[in-house]
Amino acid sequence: MKKTVIQMKPHHFLDVLRNFGIGKTKYEPSQNGNALYSIVPGLLSNRDTIFKFTSGIDDVCRPCKYHRQGKCANTVSAHGVYKSMNTYNRHLDEKIYEWLGLSEGQEMTASDYCRLVRNKINDIDGIWIEVPEEENKKRKEALLAGIAFYLGESR
Ligand code: SF4
Repeated sequence: MKKTVIQMKPHHFLDVLRNFGIGKTKYEPSQNGNALYSIVPGLLSNRDTIFKFTSGIDDVCRPCKYHRQGKCANTVSAHGVYKSMNTYNRHLDEKIYEWLGLSEGQEMTASDYCRLVRNKINDIDGIWIEVPEEENKKRKEALLAGIAFYLGESR
């Protein structure tokens, strides 16, 4: 199979896996124009797609209407402390790098990323600290289900 490398924010693929875990495997074009609609089918047809991790604009962000000169111009209102999504996401991805022992610019296949997340799943609790415990519990369960789906395992 052709080697495919895409730039990926670590939390973007975690969001995709969580969605797989709750049965969402198809994406419609998003109102903000992000590229999940076109990227996810490729990730499903080639589970050894190589991620080159970035905390900046990734291939999901590139066509998004909030992408402005290499930064995200969107805002987050639900998490209180942060107003800039660019700042929020950078902080989130930095925590994920630390949690998983990864670094920006590192490359890894999507399947190996899944295995790594699953191996470290018990240490996920400090990542989304602004989110209620119950929501994080559901996120963990959905992530594990999404990883099993992505790796072609039955649970
Ligand atoms: S540019 Fe911002 S809003 Fe758009 S996909 Fe990227 S992180 Fe999301």
